[in-house]
Amino acid sequence: MFENVDLLVCGAGPVGSLVAERAASHLGWRVLVLDRRSHLAGNCHDGPAKNGVLVHSYGPHYFRTNDDALLKYLSRFAEFVPANYEVRSLVRGELLPFPINLTTLERFFGVELNAESAETLLASRRVPIARPANSEEFVLSRVGREVYEAFYLNYTRKQWGLHPRELDTSVCGRVPVRLCRDARYVDHKHQVMPRRGFTSLFASMLKHPRIRVELNCDFGEVRDLIRPRFATVYSGPIDDYFGYRFGKLPYRSLKFEFETRREAFAQPCVQINYPNEREYTRSVEIKHVTGQRHPETAVCYETPTNSGEPFYPVPRHESAALYARYKELADAETARRAVYFCGRLAQYRYFNTDEVLLEALACFETIRRRFAGARASSPLTAAA
Ligand code: UDP
Repeated sequence: MFENVDLLVCGAGPVGSLVAERAASHLGWRVLVLDRRSHLAGNCHDGPAKNGVLVHSYGPHYFRTNDDALLKYLSRFAEFVPANYEVRSLVRGELLPFPINLTTLERFFGVELNAESAETLLASRRVPIARPANSEEFVLSRVGREVYEAFYLNYTRKQWGLHPRELDTSVCGRVPVRLCRDARYVDHKHQVMPRRGFTSLFASMLKHPRIRVELNCDFGEVRDLIRPRFATVYSGPIDDYFGYRFGKLPYRSLKFEFETRREAFAQPCVQINYPNEREYTRSVEIKHVTGQRHPETAVCYETPTNSGEPFYPVPRHESAALYARYKELADAETARRAVYFCGRLAQYRYFNTDEVLLEALACFETIRRRFAGARASSPLTAAA
């Protein structure tokens, strides 16, 4: 069953699906995709809750991108519908827009504001820190102590099990602060969802006569039995690949609790954040953005934990240093045995879905150059 493989792919998530599709369609390679889980799509997996409402199994994936070519490419495999990613934060008993915008500041400080007066207000609250060294300093220097304590401190503590002081600036830095009324979670040009879900999108990418997918198959157990003609793309945990020889890379995990409700909608927007003492960090009613029509709904409560599936690489100096040691091994493995490490677990980096797809495309392009030379042109063209 493992013979005649040109490209071996570990992981049937976004990375594996894109690389496999490109290799099969663009290069004509025979691809074998393995996944230890029983389903496709990795953490983008979605499926029906008990009442048939489409839910995201591993937390919400709000697809957004500024890349026209990427969306055009993905649209070959699924229809995309516009989505409204709106998040509110429960602060002092009120649901306030998050990321912080003019409306949030008005309601939080109890004054009417425009962009200019909001800037003056924030300037008077900001803690002057010239070069913020961690997430706490970053937020204090951006919005001041009151806003930091109300919106960020407890949420971040719960999310990471660490004080914002112990986390890189990038953790809280990825959320914008806006001095306008825009209440969308992100700024990207395209904010869309695959109409029939992510699992259907990736299934359609993998549906190709030269791609074979084996689910419930652990890469570690079969890696020595398969000799791909060209290369391997590995999207699993990098420390696992090397037998944890330098120790385990830390991850933050999540527990998901789904509740079905006999009403069309249970909350006013797709996500509510709880920067308070409740155990869960957020409740997600993904039906707001999937476009599904259904008389009932489902809400997912997310509680962060240290045990369980690896979800979030922990952005701290210590883990970056440990990853660097594994990366050195990985680079040698790429040079010697053409094993390419790509994706959140393999690169120990948090990626949004569009980012990881672009990362996979770059990985495919590197492989193509190494093994197929100038035979094929642009990596997103040519369907066959
Ligand atoms: N964050 C926060 N309060 C919130 C939402 C986010 O303090 O209400 C912080 C938190 O540390 C989180 C980071 O900002 O890890 C990034 O938030 P984002 O919503 O982008 O996280 P994701 O959706 O990727 O889990």
